[in-house]
Amino acid sequence: MTKHIFVTGGVVSGLGKGLSGSSLGRLLKARGLRVTMQKLDPYLNVDPGTMNPFEHGEVFVTDDGGETDLDLGHYERFVDENLTQDSNATTGSIYSSVIAAERRGDYLGKTVQVIPHITNEIKRRINRLVSDEVDVVITEVGGTVGDIEILPFLEAIRQFRLDVGRENVFYIHVTLVPYIGPSSEQKTKPTQHSVTELRSRGIQPDAIVCRSDDPISADLRRKISNLCDVPMEGVVNAADASSLYDIPLVLHDEGLDEYVCRVLGLDDREVDLDPWKEIVAKVEAATTPVRIGLIGKYVSLPDAYLSVVESLNHGGLHHGGDIQIEWIQAEEVEGLLAAGRLKDLDGIVIPGGFGERGVEGKIAAAAYAREFDVPCLGLCLGMQVMTIEYARNALNLANANSTEFDTRTPHPVIDLMESQRDVTDMGGTMRLGAYVAQLKPGSRVAEAYGEEVVSERHRHRYEFNPKYRQRFEESELVLSGESPDGRLVEFIELNNHPFWVATQAHPEFKSRPDRPHPLFREFVAASMQRAEGRNPQLIDIDADVPANAES
Ligand code: GLN
Repeated sequence: MTKHIFVTGGVVSGLGKGLSGSSLGRLLKARGLRVTMQKLDPYLNVDPGTMNPFEHGEVFVTDDGGETDLDLGHYERFVDENLTQDSNATTGSIYSSVIAAERRGDYLGKTVQVIPHITNEIKRRINRLVSDEVDVVITEVGGTVGDIEILPFLEAIRQFRLDVGRENVFYIHVTLVPYIGPSSEQKTKPTQHSVTELRSRGIQPDAIVCRSDDPISADLRRKISNLCDVPMEGVVNAADASSLYDIPLVLHDEGLDEYVCRVLGLDDREVDLDPWKEIVAKVEAATTPVRIGLIGKYVSLPDAYLSVVESLNHGGLHHGGDIQIEWIQAEEVEGLLAAGRLKDLDGIVIPGGFGERGVEGKIAAAAYAREFDVPCLGLCLGMQVMTIEYARNALNLANANSTEFDTRTPHPVIDLMESQRDVTDMGGTMRLGAYVAQLKPGSRVAEAYGEEVVSERHRHRYEFNPKYRQRFEESELVLSGESPDGRLVEFIELNNHPFWVATQAHPEFKSRPDRPHPLFREFVAASMQRAEGRNPQLIDIDADVPANAES
């Protein structure tokens, strides 16, 4: 029988429910259990694909082409399982299914209502993840208890326990225990109110994860236990950790995984936390500073590039590098370059994006990296931008561009594929999900991957224009990976450069803390080499002593 853990949140949003759930997932996996995860999102968008990254952060893409909530990225990185689009359901998608069924006449003329029709559809979505291959499904309910939109979800997960049996369901509520400065006290009242709200919906939590700045005292735990009617073992404190990788170990020390297993009647198996502890040890050992400029359009909300940043960190952990991200607004690049403000960067990442704003700045950054031997990694739009830069400045194709930004460019080096033209629906027009690429033997990317056939996730409409292939192939730029039918260019790289590599895909979705993605690993290596080259020079200048002076 598959067991279910539901994670809800209270008091405020942004408490890290996703990370708490993922960390618990990791702990259960460390006990040899087979774990999968999902997110139920109360907003009305059918999926996050069309949502502005400024508001919602990155869209995480699954192998099967799901455009999903960024928490799925945490799930994949922590639990180390590839998820599918079934792992994310929104109110919008749930209502769409119910309304489509109503139009088909599936409800035989009955009045269609939130209860039972919407709640049944929510339960069906939860049940989609149940299989013989899964011991535990962890379901995170987005939003905060008390939100209007969350009610059908709470009702569905309440009913779920009745449907599958009490012994098969565990409810975790994540709350905040704030510190009130003037009275120097940590306060439990918000937690009490939040639990009261949850109970008014018929859900009694089995455990409460209390987030706090500093550890909470035994007295406070006792108070929460008493007032919220949760056994002491179920009151778990997750005080702010220095790194997100600490969270599984914190929850383990608090006994959460053991308690969950006991309540759910899962065998008490040995926990192998060594692999995770190795990751944590690497975080502590990653001390060599590496300054990476991330040239983006949505830099005011770093969550918009969450997986890119995580992948860079994975590369840093691998090499002992402490990745320091310089968030650079794409539109400001030209000014910063003119002022010499980018010269201390050890590497440049040009991530994905949509729309024209900031594109010229990204092109300028690619040109600077190419000319001054700065390692540069282009991801999706990044590859398109690097292609445009090379076309304009190395192949002398004046005003080369992507037709996304200039429909009348004389040199559309990036263009829509025939099959993409004339499609007007905003959802569903993109190349989405995993596609295989064939890498050129001996190329830098083939060496990095250590294999010649690779699969990466995609999310874009525009492609390298095959009409320009030959022009590029005759130059120093290598088209180092393509689709198996040879029609689509998937990777490019520059000869005679420390690292100027790009891909049409989004490799950031597949990197893991203990298995950095090969492109990020190599990019960070090249950036660290530059950092090492730069540092002694800086020291020489600062110390103002001749390089050959005796010490
Ligand atoms: N805007 C580009 C396209 O649609 C790149 C998309 C992306 O970077 N994800 O092709």
